[in-house]
Amino acid sequence: MVLYGAIEAGGTKFVCAVASGPDDILSEVTIATKGPAETLKEVVGYFKDYQEKSGEQINAVGIGCFGPVDLRKESGTYGYITSTPKEGWQDTEVAGFFERELKVPVGFDTDVNAAAYGEYLWGAGTGLEVVIYLTVGTGIGGGLYVHGKPVHGLIHPEMGHVIVRQDKNKDPFEGCCPYHGGCLEGLASGRAVDLRWDCHAAELAEDHAAWELEADYLAQGLINYILTVSPERIILGGGLMHKKQLFPMIRKKVQEKLNGYILIPAIQEEIDNYIVSPGLGEKSGICGAIGLAAGALAE
Ligand code: ZN
Repeated sequence: MVLYGAIEAGGTKFVCAVASGPDDILSEVTIATKGPAETLKEVVGYFKDYQEKSGEQINAVGIGCFGPVDLRKESGTYGYITSTPKEGWQDTEVAGFFERELKVPVGFDTDVNAAAYGEYLWGAGTGLEVVIYLTVGTGIGGGLYVHGKPVHGLIHPEMGHVIVRQDKNKDPFEGCCPYHGGCLEGLASGRAVDLRWDCHAAELAEDHAAWELEADYLAQGLINYILTVSPERIILGGGLMHKKQLFPMIRKKVQEKLNGYILIPAIQEEIDNYIVSPGLGEKSGICGAIGLAAGALAE
């Protein structure tokens, strides 16, 4: 049996799994993120323990990693976390560490690209050519798959930081992005919602004015993506999207704001099937990491 090690590396926790495929996760563990040396040692220890106890070898590892990360294969710091605000993690080698420690090929991408890949392979993006996965949590990030490949380019897309229109009469909040103030992330991330209403987003009632505003900003972001890369489906995940009432509000606002400009059934009639929840639920990221591992082994 071919076994994959999968890692969803986040700023607060590392979710690690051993699996033979997306439907066959044999072991899973969550490790709190501490300093880089300590955390990475603990993660590799988990895989080594698994191998020892089961007598089976892990054949490849896939990592979806918080960032920013270096994805340029020709770069001397490929597979590194680069200029992250996460204390102590700047310039940390991640992919190469697992390659050396476990002596296996390693697939490496951003956390959100990994989740997008999981959805593309086995979730709500299956069978489509151009898919966006947007996570709306503490921050906002997007992964874009085009013809089976994640878009990397100059670095990788940073869809959370697109600029949106703000009506300061309705919403005087200055925005919380340290770089742009009121970009999409600055106005619509979980952090922005918490700060604007001085209350944890999860505690706001379903009919709170926060959600109308939230749906408006997210719809603006989605329209930017629809008009620039023409995705066949947009998958919305992350903590804030657990507020299911947002989906119909976002869909309606996307239609209103496009204002009949894109005359296609996906937008006009079948938008419930166009802007959707993740098909893999909370497993998009870890399944994507399994996919990255399989890809690294096949290379
Ligand atoms: Zn920003």
